[in-house]
Amino acid sequence: MDKIDINIVWFKRDLRFTDHEPLYTAQQQEIPLLLIYCFEPSLIAYDDSDVRHWRFVYESLQEMQEKLKKINTQIYIFHNEAQIVFTKLAERFNIKTVFSHQEIGNKISFERDIAISKFFKEKNINWKEYQTNGVIRRLKSRNNWDERWQQKMTEFPKLVNEENWDFCKLEETIYNSIKGENLPNEITTRNKNFQQGGEYWAWRYMESFIKERYVNYSKHISKPSLSRKGCSRLSPYLAYGNISMRMVYQYTMQHYEKSTNKRALSNFISRLHWHCHFIQKFEDECRMEFENVNRAYDNLIKPKNKTYIKAWQEGKTGVPLIDACMRCLIQTGYINFRMRAMVVSFFVFNLWQDWRELHFLARQFLDYEPGIHYPQLQMQSGVTGINTIRIYNPIKNSEDHDTEAVFIKQWIPELVKIPAHLIHDPWKLSLMDQQLYECEIGKDYPYPIVDIEETRKYASEKVWQYRKNDDVKTEGQRILNKHVNSERARMKKANKKTTK
Ligand SMILES: Cc1cc2nc3c(=O)[nH]c(=O)nc-3n(C[C@H](O)[C@H](O)[C@H](O)COP(=O)(O)OP(=O)(O)OC[C@H]3O[C@@H](n4cnc5c(N)ncnc54)[C@H](O)[C@@H]3O)c2cc1C
Repeated sequence: MDKIDINIVWFKRDLRFTDHEPLYTAQQQEIPLLLIYCFEPSLIAYDDSDVRHWRFVYESLQEMQEKLKKINTQIYIFHNEAQIVFTKLAERFNIKTVFSHQEIGNKISFERDIAISKFFKEKNINWKEYQTNGVIRRLKSRNNWDERWQQKMTEFPKLVNEENWDFCKLEETIYNSIKGENLPNEITTRNKNFQQGGEYWAWRYMESFIKERYVNYSKHISKPSLSRKGCSRLSPYLAYGNISMRMVYQYTMQHYEKSTNKRALSNFISRLHWHCHFIQKFEDECRMEFENVNRAYDNLIKPKNKTYIKAWQEGKTGVPLIDACMRCLIQTGYINFRMRAMVVSFFVFNLWQDWRELHFLARQFLDYEPGIHYPQLQMQSGVTGINTIRIYNPIKNSEDHDTEAVFIKQWIPELVKIPAHLIHDPWKLSLMDQQLYECEIGKDYPYPIVDIEETRKYASEKVWQYRKNDDVKTEGQRILNKHVNSERARMKKANKKTTK
């Protein structure tokens, strides 16, 4: 049988139809098109992966399928390795071009892409990969990166023509032979504790934020409870590409002039920029997933303490705000930026543990994005040698940002009867108060597993001393040269000098 020519759009972390360059370009070709997605067992089994991520992907795909049903087609979803799927499809079809977005993922997805690229070359299949948001592949210098980001964000979005399609059908027998096993129920069953995946929800969150919720953005961004409404909550939608960064940027700018709190929207836009800035760092130096970006820190050894790690993971450290954050994160997949930085600080400084033990966090964040996650982990852990070292005080953060203990009481029912002003450091309660508030410290809720002040002092001395090493400074300079816009840094320095 003669093989027919087809093109393929391979969906990855870009689960949308709006502003989708691979789809848009594929539509211009006059070759039947097959849409595919692969739930790859090797990625699902990787250290950073959790069922919550795949459920979000599944929900996003279900929504796309509903739309495609109306035009009598579908995305062919496989529970199989991409290489196996492409091998089988190539036996049946003459695949001309595969269209996809560049994936800035973890090591296993990177290695998969290398293998797939080799396979496509052998089979004479053209692979067209398109830029993801503002992140540039094979970037030579950071010098005009900001301008290029701005240009990308302001370009006209790639909108498909909803009617003009020529889709290809995969026969039932072939599909069944490649499809793989049914996905487990835990992936296909909705869990209401988590944000729901899909383009529809991405736009709902964006609209409600830009039209209403944004007014309290800057005021509530650091509050563990209020940030849940005051921040955009767009992160999982950006991580799985339910919405493009360009659409978020343009939609925000459309509302900017009329907005009553321009400062809040400016702060928000800075973060959209950071999103790509961090991912660019990871794209340029992906060993950050496993290694200290500043190699001089390889000699700073922290002995592993399994008891500490377990208590931290389970939200049983005896420090209320830390425990509330960890329990909330496990249940809902979200805590705000400051709380993320604080739980990491507690882990790497107070508990004196290595950031490389933190794959657990990647599994908990519904918005897990390797390109933001690893550079942030390293920055918060003080191993870059270029950023200010911040050791967060969990008691002060608790008093300042959860003053009325709304968040703590929601997540630590053991402490619910303790008045807010006494809850932040409950180990100081007198025995009489413990009886009165029905919480015996050491029995109902643990004593802190470490002395916060002593461990802070120890860590602070160690890390600041270490930072004086010549090797740390040399590596720091290398990092600045690679990841920072040197022109802008020079200008800033020059401006400082002239304004003194
Ligand atoms: C240790 C650590 C790990 C993190 N891991 C992730 C991660 O895996 N995925 C992720 O999306 N964010 C991560 N962040 C950044 C940040 O905490 C989240 O992006 C933010 O809390 C998401 O909430 P939001 O969408 O309401 O953000 P908003 O404040 O509404 O910001 C809008 C968008 O800007 C981006 N953004 C916001 N803050 C940052 C930041 N500090 N750095 C880079 N981009 C930012 C996100 O895409 C976010 O959705 C991490 C932060 C820390 C300290």
